[in-house]
Amino acid sequence: MNDIPIEKMDGLIYDARDAIMRMTVMGGEVSIMMCRTTSMAQKAQDTHLASDAATAAFGRVLSGTAMLSTVLKEDNSSVTVTFQGGGPAGKIICVGNKNTLKITATNPQAEVEPLSSGAQDVSGYIGSDGTLSVVKDFGKGDPYIGISRLKSGEVAEDFAQYYMDSEQVNSIVALGCLNANGVVLSSGGIIIQAMPGISDKTLDMLEMRIPFYSNISREIYDRSMEELCSAWFRGMDLQILSHEELYFNCDCSRDKMLGALLASGKEELNDIIQKGEDVEMQCWFCRARRKFTVGEIQELLIK
Ligand SMILES: [Zn+2]
Repeated sequence: MNDIPIEKMDGLIYDARDAIMRMTVMGGEVSIMMCRTTSMAQKAQDTHLASDAATAAFGRVLSGTAMLSTVLKEDNSSVTVTFQGGGPAGKIICVGNKNTLKITATNPQAEVEPLSSGAQDVSGYIGSDGTLSVVKDFGKGDPYIGISRLKSGEVAEDFAQYYMDSEQVNSIVALGCLNANGVVLSSGGIIIQAMPGISDKTLDMLEMRIPFYSNISREIYDRSMEELCSAWFRGMDLQILSHEELYFNCDCSRDKMLGALLASGKEELNDIIQKGEDVEMQCWFCRARRKFTVGEIQELLIK
């Protein structure tokens, strides 16, 4: 399931917007989601001045998270996906708030040599000994938390394992990001899920088609998702249920940062006041820096 190395590609970059599509085939026996996250992966690389290996991981994690978060329609709902695999990445955290996503890593600039095939070494960056955790917050307390062991650190297999362990859904997951030298050519993914009562015939038809989806980043490089799905699922009664745009954006603000500062505790705040120096805080997701004066911090303590 490796991506094709960038040197072997030519042609135009397909400039469709990032989006997610939901579909069914065979009268609802199978549920399918597919997404394009090319612009988001590029923005993630630019925001964090990320290495190519980190960007390849970001592209895959953004795609997997988009397919989890856009399903939640409640106000204030969100999905937080955390990969912690013991590799140079440290933690990768991706938050999806309906159709808007943000992502960060402890070490986005850590370099990892590409594989001998030329593809980025995503599991070398993430590591494969650790966990994938998914927190679904429905916006009214009592979040759902699912944790599964990483299968390989390649991301797609780890999401498939998560769906099996935590949601008991048998899934085919393919995620890919085609990038090198600071440029993302394409990024996206597909999740194919068998609904209860699926027939053996349908399962066979899906498995026969695995070679189509397994090179997802190459496939969406120059073709629309509709075109691809129409070809891949020909003769399987493809129904497109929705097509929505995806956005890369951070929802941080001065007020939220002040809240985080307050949460660090009175002792910490008193220390800052005694030092008498302004404090600069940086958002881990969008890298925005905000300055707070000693006066503002004093006010915070009084409140
Ligand atoms: Zn931010």
